[in-house]
Amino acid sequence: MYEKCPVCGLKFEREPGYFLGAMYFSYILSIPPGLAIVLLIWRLTHWQFDVVMLCAFIGYLPLVPAVTRWARVIWMYVDRHFDPD
Ligand SMILES: [Zn+2]
Repeated sequence: MYEKCPVCGLKFEREPGYFLGAMYFSYILSIPPGLAIVLLIWRLTHWQFDVVMLCAFIGYLPLVPAVTRWARVIWMYVDRHFDPD
């Protein structure tokens, strides 16, 4: 991730630990696809629930980089909306 926006120079990480708030949005963004993967595996395989959860966790891993970036972008929009300076 760039330290600053290459176009406008906006500093992304305003302070140490700034992206901690993005974890809340990451969690919210993870629920729908995670639940969809669990239900899909459960419906198709009828495996035990713990095996389904493990497979869903592994199946969700490729989505983590994208969800992390989206969560950071949402967090920056929300944070700068309430604290623009
Ligand atoms: Zn920019």
